[in-house]
Amino acid sequence: MPEPQERLSDHTTLRLGGPARAWVRAETEAELIEAVSKADREGHQVLVLGGGSNVVVADEGFDGTVVEVPTRGIESDVGDDVDASCSGATVKVAAGEPWDPFVALATERRWAGIEALAGIPGHVGATPIQNVGAYGQEVSQTIASVRVWDRRLRGVRTFAAADCGFGYRTSRFKQDPGRHVVLDVTFQLRLGTYGPPIEYAELARTLNLEVGERALITSVREAVLTLRSRKGMVLDPDDHDTWSAGSFFTNPVLPADQVPAGAPAWPQPDGLGGRLVKTSAAWLIEHAGFAKGHGNERVSLSTKHTLALTNRGAATTTDLLDLAREVRDGVLGKFGVTLVNEPVLVGCTL
Ligand SMILES: Cc1cc2nc3c(=O)[nH]c(=O)nc-3n(C[C@H](O)[C@H](O)[C@H](O)COP(=O)(O)OP(=O)(O)OC[C@H]3O[C@@H](n4cnc5c(N)ncnc54)[C@H](O)[C@@H]3O)c2cc1C
Repeated sequence: MPEPQERLSDHTTLRLGGPARAWVRAETEAELIEAVSKADREGHQVLVLGGGSNVVVADEGFDGTVVEVPTRGIESDVGDDVDASCSGATVKVAAGEPWDPFVALATERRWAGIEALAGIPGHVGATPIQNVGAYGQEVSQTIASVRVWDRRLRGVRTFAAADCGFGYRTSRFKQDPGRHVVLDVTFQLRLGTYGPPIEYAELARTLNLEVGERALITSVREAVLTLRSRKGMVLDPDDHDTWSAGSFFTNPVLPADQVPAGAPAWPQPDGLGGRLVKTSAAWLIEHAGFAKGHGNERVSLSTKHTLALTNRGAATTTDLLDLAREVRDGVLGKFGVTLVNEPVLVGCTL
């Protein structure tokens, strides 16, 4: 039932955002489709909300209907005897399932391919939106299909992974904001105790391996959680460094000759024959003069990670955006590179 004046700040990991005009908690897929369709029929804006870990909402709030998605359900075609199955696990997961517990379940059941994505907050339904990724894995590597409610065509559609337009922190869903409401995501996971080759140097080092070697998925998950905790990238209500939306800026993808001297340059698989490379937003921020902890008593860069903008307890969204602009403009002034925000901005701009 609608609960007027619910505040977004109570539902976002930044603890920011003003009131919503209307609020619906859709417990089932039918309720979710009906809530969105009703708002559409009545001409109200809609914000579909998962765990609120990748949104920055204006202090004025949201002048429309927030539809919260706590739908649950995990169905797999694999029994308990993993060894008896040879074709991998096909696992359909409802949009409202929390992501990190699903990763824990997958590693427990020996479903490989998402273990390096442990500790990412939020719900499964949001993972295809920006193609979440960390430590060398992206969900696009294991997503088989995404089932959505298409608000424009008013029908349920299933997109095979190849039609999802996945790229670095993007997808067709992010490119066409608000049109598709994710109902469930189907993953195709390998069966086994070992994961794919470790691609990420820091993770390989933590596991005492070389890049390209493989490790037990349980060890990968634990190593990732350790690394993430050190960086304030695992939610902890007592640690203001985690009152964030994760990385605030994406890593810029640039022509190789525009990468500042000394900055990392990672080749891109689709990098036009090596002409486009990805560089590190954290490196650019630090070398533009913004150290960890830069800011004031209300908002600052995390004291553990330059890429996270954090609420120290009494921040407003205006404070946060001021800091984001200061960092963005500082990097632009020093290196001529425009940083782009990763979280979705709701009712505000950078
Ligand atoms: C501490 C921390 C660490 C993080 N680390 C990472 C990381 O390593 N890698 C990474 O990629 N991200 C990371 N993030 C960002 C974030 O956790 C992910 O993007 C996550 O997938 C967002 O999920 P959510 O349910 O919280 O989405 P929300 O914040 O609720 O929503 C984000 C966007 O997705 C849309 N959306 C949500 N659910 C649906 C749905 N069912 N259908 C259609 N649209 C929907 C929303 O409308 C909004 O536009 C981090 C965030 C935090 C706070």
